Amino acid sequence: MISTVYSWCFDCATLHATRIGEKRACTGRQANLGYGRDEALAAKHRIFGNAEHWHELPNHHQRHIAATT
Ligand SMILES: [Zn+2]
Repeated sequence: MISTVYSWCFDCATLHATRIGEKRACTGRQANLGYGRDEALAAKHRIFGNAEHWHELPNHHQRHIAATT
């Protein structure tokens, strides 16, 4: 059963897990990655490569995340 959604937090430079229906514990700038920890990490690498911190992101990614979080 899907009960957790994952996001990469570029302020904490780590993966955050949020239970569906609950509020995010962190208000940092995050990119939604979907369900499943392994899938989320794979998606993070596919989309953002090795970037872990906000300052490592290219401008177009920064703008997109800022607009969706
Ligand atoms: Zn965070």
